[in-house]
Formats: sequence, C-alpha cells, structure tokens
Amino acid sequence: MPWLTINDPQHGPMQVHVRMPKQRPKRCTCGKLSLEPRLCDFKMGPGKTCDAPCCAHCAIHPALGRDICPAHAEALAEWMEWALGYADSIDPVAPIRKARQVQSSKEVESQPAA
Ligand SMILES: [Zn+2]
Ligand SMILES: [Zn+2]
Repeated sequence: MPWLTINDPQHGPMQVHVRMPKQRPKRCTCGKLSLEPRLCDFKMGPGKTCDAPCCAHCAIHPALGRDICPAHAEALAEWMEWALGYADSIDPVAPIRKARQVQSSKEVESQPAA
C-alpha cells in the first residue's frame, strides 16, 4: 500500500495512507471508466485477442463468457456470416435442410386461420 505525502498548510507535510484499487480503471470506447472491464475476446491471431476494455453496457456477448468490444461487433457479424456460409459449403445436406425449412414454413403459412 503506497503512502502519499501531502502538504497541509496548517500541520506541514502529512503522510496519508492511500488505498489503491487492485486494478487501474480502464476506459471503454464510450468514455465510461470501469474497474472491472470486459476484455474483448476477438481473435487477432494465434493465441492473441483484442483485449480492448469495454464496459458492461457496450460489450456484446456472442457466447457465454465471451465479450466483444463494439469495434469488433461488426467484424464478428461479418465473420459469423462467412462462417455460416462456409459451414453450408462443406455440409453436403445443407441444401436439403434448407429446402425442408422452406417447406415447413410454407406449411405453417398455409394452415387455415382459427
Ligand atoms: Zn462502454
Ligand atoms: Zn475488440
């Protein structure tokens, strides 16, 4: 715990015990300071994540325990789109499944209204 010397005009120099927070507050891109910021989990490379601090309000959660900073939210959406397209391209039954989905949604639509 650090001690801080302040100069009191009446009593002279005084030693003040300063209780420091364990972590320095980090600033989110929105300007909010947070002592316990969420660190962006967006992959930047092998074993590397963005680690940008973001407040609870700004972080988005694509999965449980994952936080993504606002700057990467867009990139993540793009990546998800690409990943889903890629999964379709390597999935031989994807066209069949999609056709079935379309069919079942049509069945729901064609049901007479009660
Ligand atoms: Zn924020
Ligand atoms: Zn990020």
